[in-house]
Amino acid sequence: MPEIKQALMPTPPWRRTDYCGAPRAKDAGREVALWGWVATRRDHGSLIFIDLRDREGIIQLVFNPEHDAAAHAVAEAARAEFYLAVRGRVVRRSEGSVNAELPTGEIEVVVTAAEILNPSLPPPFPLSGAEGAAEEVRLKFRYLDLRRPEMQSNLRRRHQALRGARAYLDAHGFIEVETPILFKATPEGARDYLVPSRVNPGRFYALPQSPQLLKQILMVGGFDRYYQIARCFRDEDLRANRQPEFSQIDIEMTGPRPEDVHEMAEGMMASIYQYAAETEIERPFPRMRYDDAMERYGSDKPDLRFGLEMRNLSAAFAGTQFKVFAETLARGEQIYGLVLPAACQLSRRELDDMAEGLRSRQALGLAWLKIAPDAWQGPIAKFISDQERTRVAEIAAPAAGDTLLMIAGARGKVRPALGDLRLRLGAKFDLIDRAALKFLWVVDFPLFDFSEEEKRLVSVNHPFTAPHPDDIGLLDSEPLKARALAYDMVLNGQEMGGGSIRIHNAELQLRVFELLGIGREEAAVKFGFLLDALGFGAPPHGGIAFGVDRIAMMVCGTDSLRDVMAFPKTQKAVDPMSGAPSEVDPRQLRELSIRVAL
Ligand code: ASP
Repeated sequence: MPEIKQALMPTPPWRRTDYCGAPRAKDAGREVALWGWVATRRDHGSLIFIDLRDREGIIQLVFNPEHDAAAHAVAEAARAEFYLAVRGRVVRRSEGSVNAELPTGEIEVVVTAAEILNPSLPPPFPLSGAEGAAEEVRLKFRYLDLRRPEMQSNLRRRHQALRGARAYLDAHGFIEVETPILFKATPEGARDYLVPSRVNPGRFYALPQSPQLLKQILMVGGFDRYYQIARCFRDEDLRANRQPEFSQIDIEMTGPRPEDVHEMAEGMMASIYQYAAETEIERPFPRMRYDDAMERYGSDKPDLRFGLEMRNLSAAFAGTQFKVFAETLARGEQIYGLVLPAACQLSRRELDDMAEGLRSRQALGLAWLKIAPDAWQGPIAKFISDQERTRVAEIAAPAAGDTLLMIAGARGKVRPALGDLRLRLGAKFDLIDRAALKFLWVVDFPLFDFSEEEKRLVSVNHPFTAPHPDDIGLLDSEPLKARALAYDMVLNGQEMGGGSIRIHNAELQLRVFELLGIGREEAAVKFGFLLDALGFGAPPHGGIAFGVDRIAMMVCGTDSLRDVMAFPKTQKAVDPMSGAPSEVDPRQLRELSIRVAL
C-alpha cells in the first residue's frame, strides 16, 4: 500500500475544483481536482478504472501506470469507500465506451496525482443495491446509507420542499418564530415525552406534541402571521409509518376564514411542488364534506385517483326476503356496496377469502352478486327480487359482467370496512393512476366523537378547535352533531396537513373543556395560561400544520418515512447507530431526584 501521508492531515492536499458529478463533455481538456469515495474499482491489469462518488454523482477515473506510477499505486491499493483526492485531465471517452446512463458518461478523468485521504473498512452492505440490506444494518451504518444517491436525492428534495414552503410564507408576510422544546403538555391525543427538571425536583417538562398553544398565543401577542418548521414529539406505539419525533410546517394567522387558510396552504403547496418536483399543481383544490367522504369513500382521507365509489343501498333492500339484510335493516343498520367493473374479476376463492377476512376481523358479512344481462348470480341471488334489482340498478348502475360487493352492519363499521376494501381492490387491479396528484380539502368534521373506551366525548381535532358558528347551539343539546371549523388537506389518500379556526373566547373554551370532561379547576391548572391570554383581547385566529416527512415522501415518491429522514428510529423507537435510548449514570438520576423502578 502506498504511504497514506494524508491520514493525519486534517485538510486535503489540494482544493477541489469540481464535484465528481459535475464535469461534462464541454469540460474536455480541463484540469480538475476532485475528492470522493470509491464506488467501484475495476482492475484491467495495467489500467485501473475507479468510479469516484460524491454528493453530485459519479465520475470515471482512469489510472495508467505510464502516466503516473504513484497514482496508479494508489488505485491499486484503493478499495470500496476509501476517500481519495485526485487530480487529472478531463478527456472525452471513445465512442464505444460512452455510458448514456451516467450524466458524466461522455467523459472520464485521466488521473495524474492521487492520494488516499482515508481508507475504509469493508462496508457491511453494498451501497448499490442497498435496498436488499436489512434496515437495521442500514440504520446502524446510516452514514454509509446516506452516501447512496437515492438517500442524497431524497434529502435534497426534502430541503427543496422546505425552501419552497419558506419562500412562499416569507413572501406572504409570515414570520418564523421558534417556540420552546421544553414546555408543558399540549393535548394532540398522544402520550407526552417528559423531561425531568433538575432545578425543580419532581417537576417535568413535556416535549411539545405540537406548538399549538404557543402559536395561538403568538396571535394574542400580535405577530399576526406565524410559521415554524417545528419539531414535534409524540410517544406512541410506532405503527409502520410513525416516528417518535417529526417535523411540521406549523402556521397560524390572525382573522382568517377557513377559505383564507385553504388559499394560503394551496399556494404554499404549489411552491413546494415547484421547488421540489418542478411540477405545477392544479388549484383550487376541491372540497368535500367529511360526511360525503365517509359516505362515498369510507375514509376521511379519500384517494381520488380511482373510482369504485361506495353507495348506500339500504333503501333498495327495504322489505327484502334476504334474511341477513332484513335483520340488518331492522336493527337500524345499513347496507353499503360498490361496483367492481367487469375488467376486474374476482375468483370465487378470492371472494370467499375476502368475506372470511371481514367476518373474522370485524364480524361483518360480505355479500356479492355477479351482474349478468338477464339474471344476477351468486349465493344470495335467489333472495333478491326484481324490484330490489331495479332499485339497486337505480342507485349503483352496475353493468353486465360487473360484480356488486356489499357489506351490512352498523354505519360506523361498514363505511370504513368497505372503504378499506375499496383501497385494496384499487391496488389489486391497478386502478390507481400513479402519476396523478389528487388534492382535496375535507371539511365540516364533527367537533366531537364519543370514546367507547373512556365513555366520554373526545375532540376529533383538538380541544382548541372552534365549533361551526351555526352549530354552537348544539353544544348544549346534541354536541355530537356539532361540526368543527376544521379542515384536512388530503393528497392521494394521505393526510398532508390539518388545522382549524380556533376558539378565541375564554368562556366558549371553558364550555368545550367542560364537554370534554375537563372541569374549570383542571382547565386552570393545565391551560390557565391560554385562558388568561384569551382574556386579553385575543383576536380571532386559525391555522394549519403540515407533516414535513409526509410531504417529503410524496415529492420523493417513497412509501417509507425512513427514506426521507436522515436519522430515523426503528419501530421500537431505537436509534441503532447511537444505541439511544440508553441507560444513564446513577449520579445523573440522583441529581434529577429520580429512581428507576423496573
Ligand atoms: N396542532 C395541530 C396538529 O399538530 C395542527 C393545527 O391545528 O394547526 O395536528
